[in-house]
Amino acid sequence: MNEQLCLIEQKIGNGERLTREDGLFLLKCDELLRIGTLARLVKQRKSGNKVYFNVNRHINLTNICLSRCKLCAFGCDADASEAYVMEPEKALSIARQAVADAPEMTELHIVSALHPDKPFDYYADIIRRIHREFPKLHIKAFTAVEIAHFAKIAKLSIREVLTILKEAGLGSMPGGGAEILNDRVRQILCPNKASAAEWLEVVRTAHQLGIRSNATMLYGHVETHEERIDHLLTLRKLQDKTGGFQAFIPFPFHPENTGLSDIKRTTAWEDLKMLAVSRLMLDNFDHVKAFWIMLTVPIAQVSLGFGIDDLDGTVVEEKILHAAGAKTAKGISKQDIIAFIRETGNIPVERDTLYREVQIYDGSHAL
Ligand code: SF4
Repeated sequence: MNEQLCLIEQKIGNGERLTREDGLFLLKCDELLRIGTLARLVKQRKSGNKVYFNVNRHINLTNICLSRCKLCAFGCDADASEAYVMEPEKALSIARQAVADAPEMTELHIVSALHPDKPFDYYADIIRRIHREFPKLHIKAFTAVEIAHFAKIAKLSIREVLTILKEAGLGSMPGGGAEILNDRVRQILCPNKASAAEWLEVVRTAHQLGIRSNATMLYGHVETHEERIDHLLTLRKLQDKTGGFQAFIPFPFHPENTGLSDIKRTTAWEDLKMLAVSRLMLDNFDHVKAFWIMLTVPIAQVSLGFGIDDLDGTVVEEKILHAAGAKTAKGISKQDIIAFIRETGNIPVERDTLYREVQIYDGSHAL
């Protein structure tokens, strides 16, 4: 056991790529602190003592969804009491308010459910109008699952959909909807939404068009350790080809209010190990992000010693994960996020969506 860990330590020391067997071994290994130390070493090589965050605002245009995935507590039918859909003017007014509240905000993060009737033009129009009014604001919008849905309803190719959105003002894409890129798992969790191959095709096409994206993993439900590692390897392979991924974000599954509510939530131990193993396996990703909303702020803070170099953003009003029982705040102030990072001995760096540094809080800045 320790012999294999020593071999992995040597590989990381030499900057060598880990294999599938290495990844599986690490997921089953109990030496969490040694794995964390290795991941921290890789993080230090990539980002030094910097830990990134951004000032952003989430907007979810609708929760009415034709897919009704078992994993989801957000999507609902049109006649559900909680159903809503925003008209473009409403989305625009939220963007205006967000800019008024935080003039330094650099990003709008827009993701939604798969509405059965709203045409593709509705989405493109919202991006176009927000971009026209706030041309400096980066619009990170639509998961690969949403893009595949738009292509279907508009009877356009994925490339055509992405080209129209890029021209409208889409800056980059979030990494959601990847869950586990395995069709066995997707048949159980989300049989009605984009398959693993479709998700990958959308992302590959986006990268070819110069639209950068993130990638996520939702773990802690019905997947095996092998399927988790294969998910990482699939992303690593695509990144070798396109170089278009910016950050990887592993999410623990929140079972509350989902069709899988009998599944037990992962432990902090498992979450920290998954973050560290992700950092070790994805040697061609610059950033691995702990989404504090999912993990809680205390675990996200600890994760900074386990290879994480990004805590996402201020968010302001998160709806999707809170529908699944996330007990964290729906947003966080910039001052708090800076203080949380500083407390860990790291240097908070405010970034924009494309990881350009906006401000380094290296101690000379009062909060
Ligand atoms: S995960 Fe996405 S596609 Fe599935 S039900 Fe929820 S909102 Fe709809």
